[in-house]
Amino acid sequence: MKITIAGAGYVGLVTAACLADKGHDVICVDVNEEKIRRLNEGIVPIYEPGLEPLIQRNSARLRFTTDDAEAYRWAEVIMVAVGTPPLPDGSVQLDAVWKALGRIAMAVERDCLVAIKSTVPVGTGDEAARFVAENGRSGVRIDIVSNPEFLSQGTAVRDTLQAPRIVLGVESERAERMMKDLYAPFALPYVVTDRRSAEMIKYAANVFLALKISYINEIANVCELVGADIQAVAEGIGMDPRIGRRFLRAGVGYGGSCLPKDASALYSLAASHGYSLKTVWAAMDVNEKQKWKLLDKARLHIGDFRNRTVAVLGAAFKPGTDDVRESPALANIERLIAEGAAVRVWDPAALEHVARRFGDAVVCCQTIEEAIRGADVCFIFTEWPAVLQFDLHRYKTLMKTPVVVDGRNCYDPKAAEAAGLIYESIGRPVGH
Ligand code: NAD
Repeated sequence: MKITIAGAGYVGLVTAACLADKGHDVICVDVNEEKIRRLNEGIVPIYEPGLEPLIQRNSARLRFTTDDAEAYRWAEVIMVAVGTPPLPDGSVQLDAVWKALGRIAMAVERDCLVAIKSTVPVGTGDEAARFVAENGRSGVRIDIVSNPEFLSQGTAVRDTLQAPRIVLGVESERAERMMKDLYAPFALPYVVTDRRSAEMIKYAANVFLALKISYINEIANVCELVGADIQAVAEGIGMDPRIGRRFLRAGVGYGGSCLPKDASALYSLAASHGYSLKTVWAAMDVNEKQKWKLLDKARLHIGDFRNRTVAVLGAAFKPGTDDVRESPALANIERLIAEGAAVRVWDPAALEHVARRFGDAVVCCQTIEEAIRGADVCFIFTEWPAVLQFDLHRYKTLMKTPVVVDGRNCYDPKAAEAAGLIYESIGRPVGH
């Protein structure tokens, strides 16, 4: 099929590459000229494992352009994968979605289908259907489908090719048939429902994960108080299939472009209908507090941060991505700078973003050794493989004082102490 994707970001680009890989002809459109220029030069502007070879391998079926009108006119199916960032009040900014829909309504000259992959509040698809009916050419039928995306950054290609389900929110048989034709080569299970339910599935799924993370983080906090070990607790509860193992890693809280914004969007959606989502509020509140735990733990050992040299390992919100949106590391770096620390940051993928955000206020380091040399304290915010594999003795030899405060439970506390570290982690008794 001929498919045009609006938005060459994490979702749009990965979806485009995977659809091309399955034999479709795909054009990816973006308003960011620099991004499209780089893609046309063979440079993939985001870090996502497996994406670059997939794009290269499918270059015959995958094009990139800023000429949206031409690309929308050509397509049988248009997928909208533009950003939907949060507004200050927690609700969703839909400007990019409406801008794309406006261009689509103006451009298309034959019947087509528009699938909204962006995460949008319930009812947006219905509004979109009204909008294109009123603003599109007369005699041209544009079906609107909700097709929410569930990929995780860091494993996005695999998640797309082997998704546990594809959610289709459709309002006509034609739309259902076309979406099934589109996804047929993936041979994955479908959930077919109405548009509003599909939009709700996306929020309910993501926010459930946020709840799970905040729950395990609170249990970790109680473990610290009562002398239990969160790793053992998480394993013990995760083996129960009713609970499941995933998203039970205690840490400094969730970040990224999705869970924080989707939790606040769902909360404000319910609030706008007069309903207070108490569980979601609690998850957001716990997450905000959890973000600052490492600083409190470090203060126990070094007092305040004024004139201290602080190493920060990991800036991305999780390993396998260069994305720093809502990363707990960035919020902490900002606070450390404000409190007078000299901050040295290492990250294998996200340093460019750190440099752009903080400029000369931090030192960006190419290796872990460079970051920790002479440091009074080292914070771990992202469990990159290089951190997990790092020789614990090197902290002791390179740091001024070997205080390691680990927000991702990367090391065995006993091994850390045996290597001479003053080691703090989350929800584990050793070190207290
Ligand atoms: P992103 O910021 O990485 O990419 C969005 C892209 O859209 C940008 O390149 C931007 O320039 C482009 N864009 C903006 N307006 C445009 C327009 N009018 N026409 C064409 N392109 C335009 O965003 P993302 O992380 O890929 O997320 C996209 C959507 O998917 C969001 O709604 C997000 O909530 C949802 N989502 C994201 C993930 C994820 O892990 N990132 C997972 C599931 C769902």
